[in-house]
Amino acid sequence: MPAPSKSTPISAPHAAPMNPGDEAPAGTPGTGENICPQCHGKGSISGQPCANCGGSGRIVAGIGGA
Ligand SMILES: [Zn+2]
Repeated sequence: MPAPSKSTPISAPHAAPMNPGDEAPAGTPGTGENICPQCHGKGSISGQPCANCGGSGRIVAGIGGA
Protein backbone atom coordinates (compact mmCIF):
# COMPACT_ATOMS: atom_id res chain seq x y z
CA MET A 1 0.00 0.00 0.00
CA PRO A 2 1.35 3.37 -0.95
CA ALA A 3 2.31 5.42 1.98
CA PRO A 4 0.69 8.81 1.92
CA SER A 5 3.26 11.51 1.61
CA LYS A 6 2.67 13.10 4.92
CA SER A 7 4.95 16.06 5.06
CA THR A 8 5.08 17.16 8.59
CA PRO A 9 7.02 20.37 8.93
CA ILE A 10 9.11 20.63 11.99
CA SER A 11 7.04 22.94 14.08
CA ALA A 12 8.59 23.92 17.31
CA PRO A 13 5.92 24.59 19.88
CA HIS A 14 6.11 28.18 20.93
CA ALA A 15 9.07 27.66 23.18
CA ALA A 16 9.10 30.42 25.67
CA PRO A 17 12.57 31.65 26.43
CA MET A 18 13.53 30.85 29.95
CA ASN A 19 15.69 32.90 32.20
CA PRO A 20 18.07 31.51 34.80
CA GLY A 21 15.66 32.54 37.53
CA ASP A 22 12.72 30.79 35.98
CA GLU A 23 11.64 27.60 37.62
CA ALA A 24 9.50 26.62 34.67
CA PRO A 25 8.59 27.88 31.22
CA ALA A 26 6.04 30.63 31.20
CA GLY A 27 2.55 29.29 31.00
CA THR A 28 3.30 26.12 32.89
CA PRO A 29 0.32 25.15 35.01
CA GLY A 30 1.00 25.70 38.66
CA THR A 31 3.44 28.48 38.02
CA GLY A 32 3.15 32.19 37.90
CA GLU A 33 5.17 35.30 37.56
CA ASN A 34 6.96 36.49 40.58
CA ILE A 35 9.15 39.43 41.36
CA CYS A 36 12.74 38.63 40.67
CA PRO A 37 14.48 38.18 44.01
CA GLN A 38 17.77 39.32 42.56
CA CYS A 39 16.78 42.72 41.24
CA HIS A 40 13.51 43.03 43.13
CA GLY A 41 11.57 43.69 39.98
CA LYS A 42 13.80 46.42 38.65
CA GLY A 43 15.26 44.33 35.90
CA SER A 44 18.72 45.62 36.53
CA ILE A 45 21.28 45.60 39.26
CA SER A 46 23.67 48.49 39.64
CA GLY A 47 23.01 49.52 36.07
CA GLN A 48 23.58 46.03 34.73
CA PRO A 49 20.73 44.00 33.27
CA CYS A 50 19.70 41.38 35.75
CA ALA A 51 20.83 38.00 34.48
CA ASN A 52 18.49 36.15 36.77
CA CYS A 53 15.33 37.42 35.14
CA GLY A 54 16.78 38.55 31.85
CA GLY A 55 15.99 42.14 32.65
CA SER A 56 12.26 41.62 32.89
CA GLY A 57 12.19 42.03 36.63
CA ARG A 58 10.01 38.98 36.91
CA ILE A 59 10.61 35.28 37.02
CA VAL A 60 8.39 32.29 36.68
CA ALA A 61 8.04 30.48 39.93
CA GLY A 62 5.91 27.66 41.17
CA ILE A 63 2.86 28.75 43.05
CA GLY A 64 0.62 26.91 45.41
CA GLY A 65 1.83 23.65 46.82
CA ALA A 66 3.17 24.42 50.23
ZN1 LIG B 1 16.04 40.21 38.05
